[in-house]
Amino acid sequence: MCVIHTPMRIEFEPAPRPQDISPQDWMDWRWQVRNRLKRFEDFSMHFALTESEIGGLREANQAFKVQATPYYASLAEPGNIHDPIRRMMIPLAEELSDGKQAMSDPLAERKYSPAPRIVHRYPDRVLFLVTDTCSVYCRYCLRKHFTGHDEAFPVRTEYQAALDYIKNQSGIREVILSGGDPLTLGDERIEEILKDLSQIPHLDLIRIGTRMPVVNPMRITNELVSRLKIYHPIFIMTHFNHAKEVTYEAAKALLRLVDNGFPVLNQMVLLRGINDSAEAVEQLSRRLLRLRVKPYYMHQCDPSLGTDHFRTSIRQSLKIQRELWGKISGLALPQLSVDLPGGGGKVGLVPDFLIEKTDSHWRFRGWDGVESTYIEPGYDHNF
Ligand SMILES: *Cc1c(COP(=O)(O)O)cnc(C)c1O
Ligand code: SF4
Repeated sequence: MCVIHTPMRIEFEPAPRPQDISPQDWMDWRWQVRNRLKRFEDFSMHFALTESEIGGLREANQAFKVQATPYYASLAEPGNIHDPIRRMMIPLAEELSDGKQAMSDPLAERKYSPAPRIVHRYPDRVLFLVTDTCSVYCRYCLRKHFTGHDEAFPVRTEYQAALDYIKNQSGIREVILSGGDPLTLGDERIEEILKDLSQIPHLDLIRIGTRMPVVNPMRITNELVSRLKIYHPIFIMTHFNHAKEVTYEAAKALLRLVDNGFPVLNQMVLLRGINDSAEAVEQLSRRLLRLRVKPYYMHQCDPSLGTDHFRTSIRQSLKIQRELWGKISGLALPQLSVDLPGGGGKVGLVPDFLIEKTDSHWRFRGWDGVESTYIEPGYDHNF
């Protein structure tokens, strides 16, 4: 049996491979890419589609590409129209109606792009969008203005201009390879980027943002990992949203990364009807922690085009954060964050523990409801 037994008795089940596909093909990441589901017919073979999904698949494709690996599609229960995997992968007709705050570029990334493929919003770190391609197009994607337009790797002059920008800005300490999904590129290409970046003396580390461990975990081959680890420190930022996504194959990919010295952190997005409960966040976090993956951010869904039906209210997100705070390990608790529309950057939100404050004292109600006072230095109890 392909089950990783961990001391906490969490079991990681393999994805249900269709009978007519050989294990060799199924476990080959390029096979998964070649056999992606894209058209209405590809999905209707596996799922009894609803009216809304039929409308979504027929129309939404033109606005934002539809695509999924057979591996990822196999994780959705065919008969359940509310399955979280299905909801993230198959568009609904709702996607076509513009929301109240629908923005094609909610984080104003074009405005903060001083060079091709670069987003420079914070003093010490930049995003480098090395490809616009992903294995699965998440219906709630925040970067619909860029992702999935078949631009792939930048042309030579653009690539060089991006690299020169990073070279010339000595305040940049971190480059975050993003996209699209950088690991959709071939091994040689990725190695070339890392080699070029490794020659820039002011860089401390590189991050790679990827959803491959979620949607095509076969991509994390021994070959890839041995090529990448030469350029450490490299932090891998994954994007698991639901406990169901943490399969045996995903677990193997994650362990391969952490065993080879890559710190792995997860960024989830809170999505209505998919993972918007304290239980769903806790389950996901516990599974990831078993694999030494740290839950890093819990993002408020950005008001990108066609995402109104996915968005939770900030109130609801804070309620989830409040329910988990103190109850579960700090290691398991991701930081709730809102990326400010218009490009203001991320702001962290924490539950409101403060009851009142004066110059001399701060009065709190803790996670379990108990009230306490912190007296500022230099003041005594009889303030
Ligand atoms: C999110 C983001 C980062 C990384 O932020 P951290 O808080 O360091 O994880 C960097 N640049 C941009 C433009 C971002 O949106
Ligand atoms: S992996 Fe990221 S960039 Fe790609 S579709 Fe999903 S959210 Fe968008």
